[in-house]
Amino acid sequence: MDILENLLRVQDRIHGACHRAGRDPEEVRLVAVTKNVPVDRIETAMGLGLRCFGENYVQEAIPKIRVLGPEAQWHFIGHLQTNKVKNVVGSFHMIQTVDRVPLAREIDRRAAGSHPVPVLIEVSIAGEATKSGVAPDGVAPLLQEIFRLPNLRLQGLMTMPPLFEDPEGARPHFRALRELRDRLRAQVPPPHDLEELSMGMTGDFEVAIEEGATFVRIGTALFGPRQA
Ligand SMILES: *Cc1c(COP(=O)(O)O)cnc(C)c1O
Repeated sequence: MDILENLLRVQDRIHGACHRAGRDPEEVRLVAVTKNVPVDRIETAMGLGLRCFGENYVQEAIPKIRVLGPEAQWHFIGHLQTNKVKNVVGSFHMIQTVDRVPLAREIDRRAAGSHPVPVLIEVSIAGEATKSGVAPDGVAPLLQEIFRLPNLRLQGLMTMPPLFEDPEGARPHFRALRELRDRLRAQVPPPHDLEELSMGMTGDFEVAIEEGATFVRIGTALFGPRQA
């Protein structure tokens, strides 16, 4: 699989979705998801101009972050255990998966004395108990707690809907995330904001862009199928 060819196709599809939605493609940033992708392929992607990468597992990510150096920006997109926070703060540029108060507090504690950490709140629109992400009605209380923590900078919301055969199945989830954001926006004091909506993966990113995504997290469409 040729990463250049894949990237051009993904960029083309991003532009197409933006065009349909009347959006500026500059508003949509590509997070290249590199779980199970070896360093040399990530280097190839950097050579093609990609700078923003998403990783799910701390242990897998840390060596890649070291090797690829300060030009790359890393977003943590996996379920984050509280005891792993110390390895994430300082290595990642953004944590997209804050979904509970103890996690927010631990990020705050570990970031004390250095730069504030940009975070997104992960929302489970369907509210499925087994998935990570806070249920929609838990977002406002979590916001209030985050506003009390000096070392977090809230920037938006993230979601990962269940898998649908037809990407249209994900549309109501994406739309609900945007509507939730629009409702909560007025409650968010600077320096926090809710500009960012991280939603859409290989199977559904065009629908997500039509519904307002500002980050799309794409692995397979760029790097090919993941080896188990
Ligand atoms: C793996 C993963 C992605 C990328 O999935 P693809 O379908 O390969 O594009 C995006 N977001 C999260 C949270 C993931 O775990």
